[in-house]
Amino acid sequence: MDTSIKLSYLLNDPDLPEMLRTIALKVNSGERISFDEGVYLYEHADLGYLGVLANYIREKKHGNRTYFNRNFHVEPTNLCVYTCNFCSYSRLIKQKEEGWEMSVDGMLDAVKKYDGEPVTEVHITGGVVPKQNLDFYAEFFRRTKAHRPELHIKALTPVEYYYIFKKAKLSHYDGMKFMKDAGLDSMPGGGAEIFHPEIRTQIANDKCTAEQWLDIHEQAHKLEMRTNATMLYGHIEQFWHRVDHMERLRQLQDKTGGFQAFIPLKFRNQNNQMSNVAEVSVIEDLRNYAVARIYLDNFDHIKAYWAMISRQTAQLSLNFGVDDIDGTLDDTTKIYSMAGAEEQTPGMSTQELVNLIKQVNREPIERDTLYNVVTDYTDFVFEDEVKPQYYKLPVIN
Ligand code: SF4
Repeated sequence: MDTSIKLSYLLNDPDLPEMLRTIALKVNSGERISFDEGVYLYEHADLGYLGVLANYIREKKHGNRTYFNRNFHVEPTNLCVYTCNFCSYSRLIKQKEEGWEMSVDGMLDAVKKYDGEPVTEVHITGGVVPKQNLDFYAEFFRRTKAHRPELHIKALTPVEYYYIFKKAKLSHYDGMKFMKDAGLDSMPGGGAEIFHPEIRTQIANDKCTAEQWLDIHEQAHKLEMRTNATMLYGHIEQFWHRVDHMERLRQLQDKTGGFQAFIPLKFRNQNNQMSNVAEVSVIEDLRNYAVARIYLDNFDHIKAYWAMISRQTAQLSLNFGVDDIDGTLDDTTKIYSMAGAEEQTPGMSTQELVNLIKQVNREPIERDTLYNVVTDYTDFVFEDEVKPQYYKLPVIN
């Protein structure tokens, strides 16, 4: 059924509570919802209601199109000077034997493994260590661009950049400019966690603050780089902390327009200091995607990392505001698996990703990092595709 028909059914429901009717009317007319309405949605709206609204916005923006890209990760180190309590990935420098620390040559070798492969993006993120400084990354970016100029470098977060620029005595603007000149193309969304200090100081006390995180993104946007934003949800935060987080992003987006995608990241509780905190349900994951889609009216894309939430939940999320399920990955990231994600060796072929999207009647679009269409797979048939077959059942009289 058409999403606008579903929305009008909902609006015609005489039992719909007044506040939910007001919000639905705003969504119907493309009006922005307020902070209090965002909190109200988290506290009172059921999954069915949220799905109708989020899907209405999703289809208004993108129709059935669902994006993915062909990418791989390079994770330069899992050692880290910081001690975020939710982190399952980092090995403190004193536990060095469990960790890795790549050289520039090693990282370049990881990039060269994909020579001749039709990947469009390398995604670089990891821990923070003194050796991997401004010169280290600038050299890596330059050599990667010299080797493969068309490969999009999406690298590091304000957590790394804040540390690197401070050591190099550079302002955020000058630091980002230096990185851009060396070959950096865009910035992923990590390190945002929950911005509000009441939560941030408890889960990520010693890394960059919300203000520093937002400022580094703002400087990147001034340099015409596009970036993403994440939110780590489902641990000790309350619903209003999530809305506060999205509100800060919405305000910066009004100012710069530089964000492309918002990516909610589910807190996983294995192998970290917060293992006593229960994980939220899949229902809460879907509610959260939907509220994000409704609240962040000025973000084009809501992305779900299939490697973090499982393939099935990623499929479901496409009816709750999500229009992007990230990339092929090729088992090049350990971040999700070390935190206890269902996908322990995350990697999917293009064909598998396309089928995953088609199975829920959406149109698979391979994009590049900046959402230019690389290939529309809607009517594409893979050579070895197995057609559905129907067998005659034996008739027993
Ligand atoms: S979340 Fe990032 S900054 Fe924090 S400890 Fe882990 S690797 Fe370091």
